[in-house]
Amino acid sequence: MSETTSDPTAPVASPAPVSDFVKSEKPREPLLEIEGLEVSYRTASGEIPAVRGVDLTVHAGESVGLAGESGCGKSTLASTILRLQPSNATVRGGIRVCGKDVRTIGWSDLRALRWGQAAMVFQGALHSLNPVQRIGDQIAEPIRIHDSTPAKGIPARVRELLNQVGLPADRAQAFPHQLSGGQRQRVMIAMALACRPELIVADEPTTALDVMVQAQVLSLLTGLVEELGLGLLMITHDLSVLGSTCSRIAVMYAGRVVEEGPADEVFEHPQHPYSAALSAAFPRIGDPAARYAPAGLPGDPPNPQELPSGCTFHPRCPVALARCSEYDPPIRMAEPNRPVACVLVGEDGRDRSAAQSS
Ligand code: ATP
Ligand code: SF4
Ligand code: MG
Repeated sequence: MSETTSDPTAPVASPAPVSDFVKSEKPREPLLEIEGLEVSYRTASGEIPAVRGVDLTVHAGESVGLAGESGCGKSTLASTILRLQPSNATVRGGIRVCGKDVRTIGWSDLRALRWGQAAMVFQGALHSLNPVQRIGDQIAEPIRIHDSTPAKGIPARVRELLNQVGLPADRAQAFPHQLSGGQRQRVMIAMALACRPELIVADEPTTALDVMVQAQVLSLLTGLVEELGLGLLMITHDLSVLGSTCSRIAVMYAGRVVEEGPADEVFEHPQHPYSAALSAAFPRIGDPAARYAPAGLPGDPPNPQELPSGCTFHPRCPVALARCSEYDPPIRMAEPNRPVACVLVGEDGRDRSAAQSS
């Protein structure tokens, strides 16, 4: 968040040291708090229920991954966090960013929040950057408009940001086409950091990059979470990416979170059959068998306008019970901090072994 200062010659403020967050005795409010979020789109063919009751929180210093197949509602959810949803969207539920109710705050507060407290990193850096403007000028623009850094301090701040994302300071003079895909994505991250936000929402930030560059950009993002004490919500369809970079993972299916928990637990020991299928679909390092024959998940994600009855995953679920086509299991604690929505898990799953053997 930017601080306002009346002294134009004041030195450029540095981000609050992580130790301030760590040492703080008072429990901090989550940076992002989503409660019962529902989003639907009005279209000529009727309502499309894209997000159907999602709860999610992100704290300072935490990186939360949101995974799920194409069309499950990840970007829809992300767009509502900074009220960027299109005009045909209807939003219900609560969204608080840094303690502010995003759905009701006025435009000037929202503008300040979008740059100073929370920022988005989108996929496709090439299309988001202005091809005829130098990188340094593009990074400087949000600082000039939304930050309190004095004009003469901006070039130093741009150099600092380039350094933070692992780019040499002379790249400020380059045009976007003179940079590689990974470098351009680093520039996008530098722009997101420009006004010192507390929360970053990254929607498929590495999808267009090759595997090596993808790993570098991911470790940059998670390194920044540690270094600056940021909160990060990272969205991708690739569960393996999140398993190695996030502290927690939430898995979405057909507009709902069906499982959430510590990243390594969800990736290595998924409890929901959909998370298990998603996890098995990606090869693991050191497991040549999985590399050459990753398990796939048969069928396609459902059309949100024609959702299956009962558990929406039942037509594809390899362990579905007869009642799964009628019963939509609520999310419940499989173990502490491990909400899962499946009849085989938690309270309903007491008869799991009996049910599976029947
Ligand atoms: P992907 O992994 O492909 O990016 P996603 O999980 O981000 O998918 P969304 O883009 O949120 O999914 O889409 C969720 C559903 O909402 C889809 O059925 C999509 O077609 C629909 N949808 C998204 N945006 C709109 C819109 N502006 N108008 C109507 N329907 C939309
Ligand atoms: Fe499969 Fe039934 Fe669990 Fe749904 S509720 S994931 S269909 S076992
Ligand atoms: Mg998307």
